[in-house]
Amino acid sequence: MAHEPRTARLVILGSGAAGLTAALYAARAELKPIVIAGVPAGGQLLITTDVENYPGFPEGIQGPTLIEKMRQQAERFGAEFIDDNATRVDFSHRPFRIETGSRGAFLADAVIVATGANARWLGLDSEKRLMAKGISACATCDGFFFKGHEIAVVGGGDTAMEEALFLTTFASHVTVIHRRDALRASSIMAARARANPKISFIFDSEVVEVLGHERVEGLRIRNVKDGSTRDLMVRGLFVAIGHVPSTEVFRGALDLDHEGYVRVREHTKTSVVGVFAAGDVQDRHYRQAVTAAGSGCMAAIDAERWLAVQPAKPVPTPPAR
Ligand code: NDP
Repeated sequence: MAHEPRTARLVILGSGAAGLTAALYAARAELKPIVIAGVPAGGQLLITTDVENYPGFPEGIQGPTLIEKMRQQAERFGAEFIDDNATRVDFSHRPFRIETGSRGAFLADAVIVATGANARWLGLDSEKRLMAKGISACATCDGFFFKGHEIAVVGGGDTAMEEALFLTTFASHVTVIHRRDALRASSIMAARARANPKISFIFDSEVVEVLGHERVEGLRIRNVKDGSTRDLMVRGLFVAIGHVPSTEVFRGALDLDHEGYVRVREHTKTSVVGVFAAGDVQDRHYRQAVTAAGSGCMAAIDAERWLAVQPAKPVPTPPAR
């Protein structure tokens, strides 16, 4: 027989910087939040090594350590963690219902969606092997580590141009590798990148292998028009081919934009009253641990204030006369 669903004032979906900060604030507000942490739990910081731009850690901190500390801090105030994924949600009426893979269902008066977004990767075995050893999807986070080195950026969109421009601050040279002969980026961003003497372009080309044993030493690049290959010696690879928000489970339940990001208004409110969103799942622009944490705090405050004016149990609608 199926177990009765557990009930909570607030369920938080996701346990990256946004979800954990929301959990901390909600727990300190005595909402006893249940966090459906996701598997693997922890978000993008888990695949980050040194985090040097999270305030409060002058020596820097490892991404997984930062996440572990945030989780412990939320647990200290009573947040409960369920290490499972949400597999189905019903936000059509309150209490909201969230089903998980193996830990049963949860009913919540309010929900914070903080399921994040994943960088899109090239999908190469060598890319997996050298992940965080010279490969990154965040120039703001990791550009500093490539001072004086040659690096490459893959992608032809606005993010690739922005990353390439930002990286010229540190790198001796930046090569943008794009699979077509025309950039997708807006003309202003493309013009800025083209005008920068430290940036050059390799068009009609794809990376087929990341070279190196302990760290990135170069890239094998194939020209898609004539099939020829060549090696480009670089110390860093920045993959800027888009992000995919983790919102599959919310399709039909929340208003999403054309790329699948949760649409919010008035800070953290989603299209469903009582459901709030925080972090990269609703932000394609900043994507920083500190901005995700900040919006997690905002969502918890919004949820708390909203819950404060709701009855603890939903009042049944009186029958029409
Ligand atoms: P985009 O989807 O715009 O661009 C992704 C790029 O990656 C495309 O050039 C695409 O190639 C390429 N690509 C996709 N998959 C692969 C693959 N498997 N292998 C190689 N190349 C691949 O994503 P962005 O992150 O650049 O931008 C997302 C949105 O955010 C856009 O709307 C953008 O305008 C906006 N943005 C705006 C900024 C600004 O205004 N300052 C800054 C950053 C983003 P192809 O062109 O062939 O499809």
